[in-house]
Amino acid sequence: MFGDSTPYQFADPGRPAQARGRRWSPKNVIIRQMAPELQSVLCDAAEPVRLRSRQMLEDVGMECRYVYFIETGRVALMARSGPGRTSEIGVVDHRDVVGLSLVLGATRSSLRVVVQESGEALRVGADSFTRILDAIPDIRRKLLIYVHTVYARNAQIALCNAHHSVAQRVARWLAWVAGREEQAQEIRLTHDQLARNLGVRRATISEALGHFEAQGLLQRRRGAIVVHTEQIEREACSCLRMLRRTEEPEPDAGRRFSPLLCS
Ligand SMILES: [Zn+2]
Repeated sequence: MFGDSTPYQFADPGRPAQARGRRWSPKNVIIRQMAPELQSVLCDAAEPVRLRSRQMLEDVGMECRYVYFIETGRVALMARSGPGRTSEIGVVDHRDVVGLSLVLGATRSSLRVVVQESGEALRVGADSFTRILDAIPDIRRKLLIYVHTVYARNAQIALCNAHHSVAQRVARWLAWVAGREEQAQEIRLTHDQLARNLGVRRATISEALGHFEAQGLLQRRRGAIVVHTEQIEREACSCLRMLRRTEEPEPDAGRRFSPLLCS
């Protein structure tokens, strides 16, 4: 648990990044996996907005005004563990959507959601989004499958937090984030942010990163970490493989995914 001293920019509505009426080519994987006519429905209802670092998209108990299909950047999902205290429970990116409460029929958020790395999103207003879900069952079904993916992902992370070492979890987190981009890359991230992501002290994170750097698995830079993805993957616990399995296309009925604890 950590103090809640970060100066978040609460309820910034986002600034339109581009004019409406463009020819859509969404980067968001959830939209791209839909049939073209379903993509058009969502994109026509959406407006592109910029996501700025430390911008708060949702807070616990706050009315959900929008759904955000993330295009670029990274967003942290945070649980509040007491007055003024938060701990991050996961990160989402261009393969994800923020606003699952609305998919499930709730109107208020159960999480604090804060932009960790600036980017862009396609934002749909709550009323429009609800009308779309009611009118087009295929879109609702696609998003409910995504909710199941998030459920499985969170279960695996809970197992990981309880049973694996900090070093394994650091490697798992870095490999997970780096592996979701096409190229091994520089992850814009401070030690404080990674400490909150994993719910451990900053000094513990610095020690683990220093160990990996000495092994040539990564380089620490100001506000960033350059990860050699294949090498850091070898230091991660088996949860990395299980997490990646949650994002495979819908499995056959006989081999549905369920979180497993592997040594
Ligand atoms: Zn693990």
